[in-house]
Amino acid sequence: MKSMLTRRDAFKGLGAAAILAATGLPVGELLAADAKPSEAALSEAFRDGVYVQGKLPYAPDALGPSYDAQTLETHYAKHHAPAVVLLNAALAKLEAARKANDFAAVKGLSQDLALNGGSHVLHSLFWHSMTPGGAGVPDDLAAALTKDFGGVEPAQRHFAAAAKAVEGGGWGVLAYEPIAGKLLVLQCEKHQNLALWGAVPLLVCDVWEHAYYRQYANRRDDWVEAFLKLANWAFAGKRLAAARA
Ligand code: MN
Repeated sequence: MKSMLTRRDAFKGLGAAAILAATGLPVGELLAADAKPSEAALSEAFRDGVYVQGKLPYAPDALGPSYDAQTLETHYAKHHAPAVVLLNAALAKLEAARKANDFAAVKGLSQDLALNGGSHVLHSLFWHSMTPGGAGVPDDLAAALTKDFGGVEPAQRHFAAAAKAVEGGGWGVLAYEPIAGKLLVLQCEKHQNLALWGAVPLLVCDVWEHAYYRQYANRRDDWVEAFLKLANWAFAGKRLAAARA
């Protein structure tokens, strides 16, 4: 894959083996299929001083037929996992730059940090944003969606439309904006662009081609509709309660 060459290039000067040893990441290996369900999407995303990939909260084949096991496994092991390695690598290189007082590469490293950090955060939320059969909208979230979108269905239609319309690779995002105490639907291009500072993502739908192409080919709209059948609104509700607290 062409993108892997780019990723390998990013290891220059640090060494992939050193990065992998430092992170202990089982890159390319799917984590336990019998992982216990967990709401701890982000608390599992950092451990012992490095970012790590949390376990899937369900078996890889548990989301079928809406999201098949091979698509999910490839996504988890070949797209999310490398982002975690590159995120740790960017931070290590920035630390080295500070020690050397050499910031010649700071622009590219800052871009790597935002791209791969955004990828890790959003993918960590993404696995929990789906659950077998989907999970209905809890009352508190329904009330907030009604206040800010005029109802649950208009909010879901807005979310789906935004996800379908993302330009290039990116995400549909339901977020909580804490200044106004308001829910927003955002688009994200790549993993970092179009973000609104301070807004807390609650539910995210990956619309990069890698997320759906194997199963849905170019039919992104079909993938977004399938995602809605899997959407874990209970997870979004818990994140909303935490964000408000
Ligand atoms: Mn992805």
